[in-house]
Amino acid sequence: MKFSRQRELILETLRNCSVHPTAEEIYVKAKREMASISLGTVYRNLNLLSEMGKIRKLESAGNTSVRYDGRNDEHCHLVCTSCGTITDVDLKMFSHIDKTVEQETGFSVSEHGIVLKGTCAECSAIKD
Ligand SMILES: [Zn+2]
Ligand SMILES: [Zn+2]
Repeated sequence: MKFSRQRELILETLRNCSVHPTAEEIYVKAKREMASISLGTVYRNLNLLSEMGKIRKLESAGNTSVRYDGRNDEHCHLVCTSCGTITDVDLKMFSHIDKTVEQETGFSVSEHGIVLKGTCAECSAIKD
């Protein structure tokens, strides 16, 4: 029972995050709610939740730490190669690409693991 309560808390913490936190960041937030929780527990449960398909694990390039995504609906990620922030973006235009792919190859697209890399607005502003 204790295990599932911890898992609920970790899932809740991640879902309430608009950013894509690392395990350490989730740990810090979860610890405020449950002082007894350990970093190992957070890691274990994050792995379990991603295996269950409840959350997404993002091995983002240009950033060594693994980040987690509480959204499991379809969306794409904009990864800033300067500061490492990951921004969610809904790209409706992909339904268009899916159709073209299906027409040309007969392949039915069910998932998009699309990551767009570049420089975020804030980093662009600093460079100018
Ligand atoms: Zn940036
Ligand atoms: Zn996301």
